[in-house]
Amino acid sequence: MSQFIIEAVYFLTALLFIYGLKRMASPVTARSGILIAGIGMVLAVLAAFLYGFDVREAAQEHLTMNVALVLIALGLGLGWAWYSGKKVAMTDMPQMVALYNGMGGGAAAAIAATELFSGNAQSHGVVVSILAVLGGLIGAVALSGSLIAWAKLDGRMNGVIRLPAQQLINLVLFLGSLALGAYIVASGIEGGISFPLIALFFILALILGVLLTTPIGGADMPVVISLYNAFTGLAVAFEGFVLQNPAMIIAGTVVGSAGTLLTLMMAKAMNRPVSNVIFSQFGGDDGSEDGDIEGTMKPADASDAAIAMYYASKVIIVPGYGLAVAQAQHKLYEFVKLLQKQGVDVAFAIHPVAGRMPGHMNVLLAEAGVPYDIIHDLEDINEDFPQADVAIVLGANDVVNPAARHRKSSPIYGMPILNVDMARQAYVVKRGQGKGYSGVENELFFAENTSMVYGDAQKVMVQMIEAVKSLG
Ligand code: NDP
Repeated sequence: MSQFIIEAVYFLTALLFIYGLKRMASPVTARSGILIAGIGMVLAVLAAFLYGFDVREAAQEHLTMNVALVLIALGLGLGWAWYSGKKVAMTDMPQMVALYNGMGGGAAAAIAATELFSGNAQSHGVVVSILAVLGGLIGAVALSGSLIAWAKLDGRMNGVIRLPAQQLINLVLFLGSLALGAYIVASGIEGGISFPLIALFFILALILGVLLTTPIGGADMPVVISLYNAFTGLAVAFEGFVLQNPAMIIAGTVVGSAGTLLTLMMAKAMNRPVSNVIFSQFGGDDGSEDGDIEGTMKPADASDAAIAMYYASKVIIVPGYGLAVAQAQHKLYEFVKLLQKQGVDVAFAIHPVAGRMPGHMNVLLAEAGVPYDIIHDLEDINEDFPQADVAIVLGANDVVNPAARHRKSSPIYGMPILNVDMARQAYVVKRGQGKGYSGVENELFFAENTSMVYGDAQKVMVQMIEAVKSLG
């Protein structure tokens, strides 16, 4: 195929990626945005397939074998992605994102490895060699780091694992892999490429990714996931330069910059400098010491809570991860409509890291058809809690824990929280005594003005609807 057509397809792909990303900015257009970017990706894969066998000499050497291998890889990848994408539960989506993100980083590292092993990158000069090495390093860190993040999100690895002198070990690993990378670049240009050294370089980078992530725990996972997302984008962009593939350069840059922005926003939401993520300064406590929380948890019936809300003027609802687990969003909105019919002013308060992925609660509420104008971000609604007659927490925990304000040893210390404790009356709906993602006890549950409504969020919503209907 003519190179001109392939380049034109890459250009179209880039436009589709950027336009798709723009549409993802609003929940109303996000679905079509994903579809458009997906079409772009299909075109890019087709063009890369044709381009590879059209112009790359190495690929033509064993053409039939190479085409067969690529088709098998495509079949396996497509099959797995299709199956897992169809099967995954909404609440398991973050794990899947972490896994796929890791695959992206791994793919970039694999490209770097083949280009360095074959001497192809070195033959294109110092700049391409440096980009291959940097992309390989970042991609390998993103791969192993994302796999650890996946294990933590999936509950396969719990708590914080910290080595003595962790910072020093990380620094030595980082500088060691950089020095090896520099040596690989220099020795490649002189003509000799040391295979064991290249292998060692990737092993060091993979270990670095693991050790950077194991000490991060508490409620800080959202920041680290978006950071690895940015890393993957950067690695792909660098390897795009190595392969002279414009679609990879543009897609990588888009992912890298979107990921960087998201990382900064998440870090701001958590009130942590990004540098602390990289040097694993936070998530420092595994929450094992909850200390001296005073008071007792007071149980309440779902119907009593429902009636209190029915006769309130202002109610604020705080959704969290448990709402997604229970899939109670539809019943919740049915209940909200009953309150609104009675003249109650109802508002939703969304914490930026509620749930298990950025925007998780917005997606959930949009699915149930909750209008956007009653959904408010933390900074827009936090001042309103003292005026709320009732604040109800549905399956949220960490994002409403007042310990974040004052308990310095807490892994969530410093994170802004929703001021549920300042409402006149608070109800918390959860199944039992389970802790939040960060593993710490919640002071709100013991407060004077808080009552606990125990049960699965969906079942509780059904009871609340029945209670309110029996009144009217
Ligand atoms: P949490 O994970 O802190 O708490 C969820 C609560 O929901 C639990 O205490 C659990 O208690 C309850 N729950 C679980 N299932 C049900 C159910 N079926 N019905 C009712 N309640 C249920 O959630 P938050 O949303 O408050 O906080 C999010 C946390 O996740 C933060 O620490 C955040 O940093 C972290 N995180 C966020 C990511 C993001 O991008 N948003 C990504 C990764 C982590 P019980 O078992 O007693 O029912």
